[in-house]
Amino acid sequence: MRKKIVAGNWKMNTIVREGVALAAAVNTELKNIDLPENVKVIIAPPFTHIAFVEQVTDENKVTVAGQNCATEEEGAYTGEVAAKMLKGLGCSSVIIGHSERRTYYGETSEILVKKVYTALKNDLMPIFCCGEKLEERESNKHFEVVESQISEALFHLSKEDFSKIVIAYEPVWAIGTGVTASKEQAEEMHAFIRKTVSSHYGKETADNLTILYGGSVKPANAKEIFSMPNVDGGLIGGASLKADSFIDIVKAVL
Ligand code: PEP
Repeated sequence: MRKKIVAGNWKMNTIVREGVALAAAVNTELKNIDLPENVKVIIAPPFTHIAFVEQVTDENKVTVAGQNCATEEEGAYTGEVAAKMLKGLGCSSVIIGHSERRTYYGETSEILVKKVYTALKNDLMPIFCCGEKLEERESNKHFEVVESQISEALFHLSKEDFSKIVIAYEPVWAIGTGVTASKEQAEEMHAFIRKTVSSHYGKETADNLTILYGGSVKPANAKEIFSMPNVDGGLIGGASLKADSFIDIVKAVL
């Protein structure tokens, strides 16, 4: 059965003390929820918090992700954090290619190829983000844009490695704006992504691929979006910073 995931991306928010309290609250709430085997909850705190957050979370309830990783394995790269370091802290996944990284830090497909490679090499599940800007949707280029983001960064992978990836479709115009894609818009793009993957890797790989939606998901709209057949959960920004709203979103995927 396809995995369903609700992942919280805290971005550059909270200091360690606040982050630990948030993670502990999420963990406590999750103890009251019977999560089916195929449902996974992930939180992605800032790097500085990971070691502390790991201490207050039960791996069988919530796992921890990095929000990014370096392109290189190790060495003289001041300020960078390697995939191997995330793994060493107990992370099991890493967000790669978030639109904020693409926009503010110039992350291109060539860079993302390297990040995906080092994540997989270190046994981290890449949560690969893609999504079009508003002007690209308005000029009807959204399918083309998403197809090239995916094919350029991922289609060099073997089928075996590709099957370890999760894709998050996050239309840039919906991230942090309060504007959510309609359930039809999300479903249309997710179905397109699955079809694109199917033509490259075959139906079985495409059917098993988890595709998350991200962009202003909140408790009020989560259930509707998650009800679509090709939407397998969400990548949640703002609403993951409050334990109760994040937990409500987790419940919406069940
Ligand atoms: C995100 O940053 O991945 C995101 C989806 O943010 P928000 O939920 O705040 O739109």
